[in-house]
Amino acid sequence: RAKSMGGNTFSCFKPEMDAWVQARRKRENDLREALARGEFTLAYQPQIDAAANRICGFEALLRWNHPIDGPVPPTDFIPLAEETGLINPIGAWVLRQACVEAAGWPGRLRIAVNLSPIQFRNRDLVGSVQSALRNSGLPPERLELEITEGVLLADNEANLATLHELRALGVRIAMDDFGTGYSSLSYLRAFPFDKIKIDRSFVSQVGESLHCTAIVRAVTGLAASLGIVTTAEGVETAAQLAHLRAEGCNEMQGFLFSRPIGASQVLDLLSRNGQEAEAAA
Ligand code: C2E
Ligand code: MG
Ligand code: MG
Ligand code: MG
Repeated sequence: RAKSMGGNTFSCFKPEMDAWVQARRKRENDLREALARGEFTLAYQPQIDAAANRICGFEALLRWNHPIDGPVPPTDFIPLAEETGLINPIGAWVLRQACVEAAGWPGRLRIAVNLSPIQFRNRDLVGSVQSALRNSGLPPERLELEITEGVLLADNEANLATLHELRALGVRIAMDDFGTGYSSLSYLRAFPFDKIKIDRSFVSQVGESLHCTAIVRAVTGLAASLGIVTTAEGVETAAQLAHLRAEGCNEMQGFLFSRPIGASQVLDLLSRNGQEAEAAA
């Protein structure tokens, strides 16, 4: 639009642009300080085993409470953290914190941690997973790393090697947001994932849209025949749950069961579910 408005259009927009650039620079500086100032916390959202109807794990979701602006959504600050490289120290903190908190949970509950593709460019990634496990004492099989297609798009070979190194530590690898990528199927051929998380965009229309229902059916069938566990993301209604169960989806996660909760609420939720004294491994 700016182009068609003639030569000096750019100067008209300049004050706004400056404001935008300044706001962004401010946000970036704030983000740079946030870790040291202790402004990050983790929220935990339960994952439910559909057959047993029990909580089988939690996904750690990063929260930033800005001292002035209040909570900033991860969809806003994570891209900024990725562009600035701050995702590396922040991601290492998430790993440490999630492992320490999960090590205090009963039973075999798993903790899932999201990894950004940018973290795969950092040669320390495997080391930081290893040290998070060592420092917390969390058994590796209780840690699950969620990755998105971005990890296998760029630097394919190097990232694939890193994935195999991570797997060799004994941790599980999940493919997040499955079905939203350009070639989700080829990622399944590239790496033997332990879990597929069916994206919320399909889950939200299961049973309503014939297309979404068919896609969910195909994905659960394919995963089952490959020996891969499926988790449905963003389950919000009982009707969705019933359809997902009927399609053989293994695990459920979504507001129907619980929103992401604070670390201090995890044990409460477990005891309300009769899972406070789950036999230790
Ligand atoms: P994700 O990994 O796909 O996480 C699921 C998102 O869906 C979370 O949003 C969760 O709160 C939301 N959600 C769960 N159940 C429902 C539901 O029933 N309905 C709806 N409408 N939403 C639901 P959140 O916490 O805002 O996180 C957004 C994204 O930010 C995550 O998507 C993930 O890609 C990224 N993210 C969050 N924490 C981290 C982190 O520690 N590291 C990295 N690299 N990325 C993170
Ligand atoms: Mg995730
Ligand atoms: Mg997801
Ligand atoms: Mg998603």
